[in-house]
Amino acid sequence: MRQRYGRSRGRARGTKRAAKAEAPGAGKSEPRSNVVIPPALTVKQLADILGVSGIEVIKYLMRNGIMANINQVIDFDSAVIVATELGCEATEEPQTAGGDVEKYDFKEEDSAAQKQRPPVVTIMGHVDHGKTKLLDTIRETNVVDTEAGNITQHIGAYQVEVHGQKITFIDTPGHEAFTAMRARGAKVTDIVILVVAADDGIMPQTVEAIDHVRAADVPIVVAINKIDKPDANVDRVKQQLADNNLLIEEWGGDIVCVQVSAKRGDGISDLLENLLIVAEVQELRANPARPAIGVVIEASLDSSKGSLATVLVQTGTLNIGNNVVVGETWGKIKAMFDDRGRRIRGAEPAMPVEVLGLNSVPQAGDLLTVVSSEKEGRAEAQRRQSERAGISVSMAPRLSNLFARMQAGQEKELNIVLKTDVQGSLDPIRISLERLGSDELKVRIVHSDSGNITENDVMLAIASKGIIIGFNTRPEPGAKLLADQEGVDIRCYEVIYKLVEDVEKALVGLLEPTYVDVVEGHAEVRAVFAVRPVKIAGAYVTDGKFSRGAQARVLRGGEIIHESSVSSLKHFKENVREMAAGFECGIGIEGFSAFEVGDIIESYRKERMG
Ligand code: GDP
Repeated sequence: MRQRYGRSRGRARGTKRAAKAEAPGAGKSEPRSNVVIPPALTVKQLADILGVSGIEVIKYLMRNGIMANINQVIDFDSAVIVATELGCEATEEPQTAGGDVEKYDFKEEDSAAQKQRPPVVTIMGHVDHGKTKLLDTIRETNVVDTEAGNITQHIGAYQVEVHGQKITFIDTPGHEAFTAMRARGAKVTDIVILVVAADDGIMPQTVEAIDHVRAADVPIVVAINKIDKPDANVDRVKQQLADNNLLIEEWGGDIVCVQVSAKRGDGISDLLENLLIVAEVQELRANPARPAIGVVIEASLDSSKGSLATVLVQTGTLNIGNNVVVGETWGKIKAMFDDRGRRIRGAEPAMPVEVLGLNSVPQAGDLLTVVSSEKEGRAEAQRRQSERAGISVSMAPRLSNLFARMQAGQEKELNIVLKTDVQGSLDPIRISLERLGSDELKVRIVHSDSGNITENDVMLAIASKGIIIGFNTRPEPGAKLLADQEGVDIRCYEVIYKLVEDVEKALVGLLEPTYVDVVEGHAEVRAVFAVRPVKIAGAYVTDGKFSRGAQARVLRGGEIIHESSVSSLKHFKENVREMAAGFECGIGIEGFSAFEVGDIIESYRKERMG
């Protein structure tokens, strides 16, 4: 459903209109008049849509009680308020596929289009009982076709064919992986093969595996392995299985048990046939005609191909060109490869495929869903990101705070963005600062974190009309530039008491600006001339430049022996304003005559911080 918001909505809120009139930076750029906004988007995207700067958007969000950085995701309602304040009429982007969250969940519809699908099998058991060997043997002897020249590749899952029927094996043995996937809601496995070495019997990890599989209510097929070994004791294993409530068919139970030698290949076809029988009972069906839903088995970042993910298609058919949302990422399927590295165009249910085209690397267990457009995929991925980050993307509760504050009269608070070198310093400083506030004047830490002072911090300070305080940390060059442009006060300290003292002063409006020394150049004294009543240094400018009137200090053996300013600057007999590196000149220093050959004169200027 399309919703319309805009000027009329803005008019309904008199306070908003008042806010617009005094909005900082309003009118700096020309916002667009009609915009279409998706259900969720980043501050940067909103700024692009509105045709204004990210800073302006952040300012408006701040005015409405939302602390957002440029990459943060906000919802449509928040975005529309910014749009309205900028005089734009905003329309919600229609969601062709519905827009409810449930459609991303795996729900197999009851349809006549459903067809039998291959079972998905995972192998579990104690270490060294032969899980990997069994997977390898099955793969080597039963690959779907025996075409020569195909390079087998590891993608975390593979398919074999037995009597014209396919079986999918997940190539990541271990119950931890199995449970981790299930904990994330991914029900991938239809059947578990429990491997028990005949010479070793049931061991602790075998018992653990049994517990995990039982908890998941997944059928078990037991493979008693290593029957080729002289000390193999199959009967003992059967007894141990019974002791663990796994009664095999031979003993009157319903557990299928097959004796194999993964090493020699004995019993492998028997095992596979039994898997098909167990699958048959389960009536595994899926609809290949619907848009695909799958689960990520493995994922990695390839330096040349980008994000790679092995996806097991659970239902539907995944096709090249499909737009997808996968966990917290999204993308468009650019290419797909099967378990033998062959390029394919489509993947049907229970088929594992390696996909290219995701924007970032998903996690094992993430669900893949086909969506109608790249935009929808992005919006859904971003919604999930912000959900995880615990960010409330709705501003409704904050609006009420804002109104309350406005009703209480003019806001009076000092907003601070606090950055420290280590996390441990944050709390003590934050507490000391907040204590300084009174009822009339509050200290509000709008953002605090460890690390350098970044552009983002400056933007937050701009938006909150606050200052930035750094403890044992410095502004990044871009942040410094932006702070200079926007007149943001950045203050860096190395001693806590000084920091607190300054903020205390700031609270009563007494804070003096701080300055740093920026070195402009050096000159080496090569001779000393008496030009009564003073002495002049015959010097060579080694780097940078020297200007008349600039601040200067004289250094001897690395020690500062005098500090004042450049009182005279001569090139031969001529008075000059400036001398560049590589030239000889006469330098006079205010109030100083005791030059010695070898002294270094350093020229510098005081620069205001922030
Ligand atoms: P996993 O830790 O369960 O994956 O065990 P592996 O597959 O790595 O096997 C452990 C060791 O047992 C390896 O040296 C295998 O070659 C050996 N092995 C596996 N299956 C058999 C078998 O059927 N017979 C014999 N004799 N050795 C086996």
